[in-house]
Amino acid sequence: MDRADDRALVLFSGGQDSTVCLGWALRRFAHVETVGFDYGQRHRVELDCRQAIRRALAVPGGLGDGADGRGLLADDHLIDLGVLGRMSETALTRDVAIAMEEGGLPSTFVPGRNLIFLTFAAALAYRRGIRHIVLGVCETDYSGYPDCRDDTIKAMQVALNLGLETRLVLHTPLMWIDKAATFALADEIGGEAFAGLVIRESHSCYMGDRSTLHDWGHGCGECPACRLRAEGFARYRSAHRHGS
Ligand code: ZN
Repeated sequence: MDRADDRALVLFSGGQDSTVCLGWALRRFAHVETVGFDYGQRHRVELDCRQAIRRALAVPGGLGDGADGRGLLADDHLIDLGVLGRMSETALTRDVAIAMEEGGLPSTFVPGRNLIFLTFAAALAYRRGIRHIVLGVCETDYSGYPDCRDDTIKAMQVALNLGLETRLVLHTPLMWIDKAATFALADEIGGEAFAGLVIRESHSCYMGDRSTLHDWGHGCGECPACRLRAEGFARYRSAHRHGS
């Protein structure tokens, strides 16, 4: 196998979905690097969570400890995209109430965010000799983000490979599964230890609230991200109980 074929770059925000994707990549590739984007998020807590999760995965016996020459959690890259925050007029980067706007998009939408992230990630992967890029976008719990759609990602793969004259592969392991199945996938990847890490250490709450640990994770419990996560966990646990 070509060396680039055993190396992956995970778009890792510190949220639930990208944490599960990081575990997924560590089960499949020998060498896994992570990239995060600092674009002036209102709550920097997500960026702090990234480091806690990376530390937990890298310990001996963790998914990313590189035992048997597999699943080594390697370099982390943080790319400053402050310009994206400055040009954006949305609730994630300014103190605007989170609400659905006309046209059905939530006001948390940073226009084209994933297109920009993928372009930077592809340039980084190219320079690092990495063929596989993993990202946690999902069409199932569709929140109105058109840059999370499967067709968008496939079109980006074509555009990036043409523009870079290379053969990058974009992986989206969560594309067709819902939040309940994402919890189940975490359990499948690394058992209770990894599923527990995802619950305790990953962050999804739009309000940046980590004061309360619920059975589904930290969060305010009221914002759309918390409600989606809590509801998915409830369905996961009920299916788990009935199935076992
Ligand atoms: Zn919340």
